Amino acid sequence: MTPEHIALVQRTFAGVLPQAHNEPVPDKEADVEESAHRALCSSGLSFSIGDAMNDKAWVAKAAKQPMVLETVDLGPLGAEDVEVAVEHCGLCHSDLSVCTNEWGISQYPAILGHEVTGHVTAVGPHAKRLKVGQRVGVGWYSGSCMHCHQCMSGSHHLCPHVQATIVGHRGGFATHIRAHWAWVIPLPEQLNFTEAGPLLCGGITVFAPLAMYAKPTDRVGIIGIGGLGHMAVKFAAAYGCDVTAFTSSESKFDEAKGFGANLVVSSTDPAAMTKLGGSFDLLISTVNVKLDWDAMIGMLAPNGRLHVVGAVLEPMPVAAFSLILQQRSVSGSPTGSPVAIETMLDFASRHNIVPQTEHFPMRKINDAFARLASGKARYRIVLDADF
Ligand code: NAP
Ligand code: ZN
Repeated sequence: MTPEHIALVQRTFAGVLPQAHNEPVPDKEADVEESAHRALCSSGLSFSIGDAMNDKAWVAKAAKQPMVLETVDLGPLGAEDVEVAVEHCGLCHSDLSVCTNEWGISQYPAILGHEVTGHVTAVGPHAKRLKVGQRVGVGWYSGSCMHCHQCMSGSHHLCPHVQATIVGHRGGFATHIRAHWAWVIPLPEQLNFTEAGPLLCGGITVFAPLAMYAKPTDRVGIIGIGGLGHMAVKFAAAYGCDVTAFTSSESKFDEAKGFGANLVVSSTDPAAMTKLGGSFDLLISTVNVKLDWDAMIGMLAPNGRLHVVGAVLEPMPVAAFSLILQQRSVSGSPTGSPVAIETMLDFASRHNIVPQTEHFPMRKINDAFARLASGKARYRIVLDADF
């Protein structure tokens, strides 16, 4: 990764990182906004470690260092916050990217983990709708301002002050996690609690573009069959779409069919992609590496869309005429709103969509990160709390 690429990612994230780590905001209106945000995310921004009593967490002290078990001071619960005892937490590639500071936005010490399932243990006096003992999940975001245009129109995940769970906020590889009540999502009764964690980030991230752009009659391609990609194949198949899986791993061909793909194609074979020219209504890319984007766009039908959710740091070159002549689009999206997450969980439980997982006890967290980094995980790792 070049310094230019990292600087580009940092500039993109600057608006949504906690101000404590950015330049001071000069104007008064922004100060008011900021103090509201601090109050909202008190459990995140009063982040302190090492001087307290009962809560424990796996802490990354610096980039690329093994995580260590520490006692953590959670401080008083924010008025609108909810506390959850973590029972399971999925391991997403974004945890690895924040752990290694690949995006240049990590804040240490860091507590990673943002695919939590657990039970509510405490609710702040102004928290709504949740009760102690309730079964819930927490994903990539843990708070938003609740009064901007985006929050007021239901797109909380696009709030300019949205709080990422693992950047400037304590994540789920811990005994407890806290989040604003709106971002603590009740789990449907029938949902498989042990395996549901990965739906809270990976699941919603691939469900959202299907819900926004796919029709059941569409031909949909999923690029990269990892944590996100394998859930995308399951969701798209349940939607009724004709699904093609694109993978660079021959060993995944059969399993991708088992997840619901009608066709499996190499994501690194230009000849195979040329044969599929002009045929996909929607391609969802979940890879975090540079692929042949020209070839991918060439596979889109008229009005087709390449939708990017995988965090590729290198800019993606797009030729204007490859979009213009066939009226094609390229787009992206960050997870989804709380209501979109609830809708996705309902859909998953109705269609019995369960991520395929490997479980590790949380004390093996460093082994779990190494396994994810090796590319051998099939297909999502879940850590089970064992404090
Ligand atoms: P993952 O489990 O590691 O899956 C990534 C997949 O990319 C791999 O399984 C592999 O699929 C493919 N890949 C990796 N290296 C490759 C290479 N050299 N050539 C071709 N394909 C390669 O990761 P994940 O947890 O699914 O996350 C995927 C990406 O989405 C990450 O960048 C993550 O940060 C991002 N993400 C974004 C959002 C969002 O809100 N937009 C949310 C969550 C995660 P094959 O083996 O099938 O080729
Ligand atoms: Zn994630």
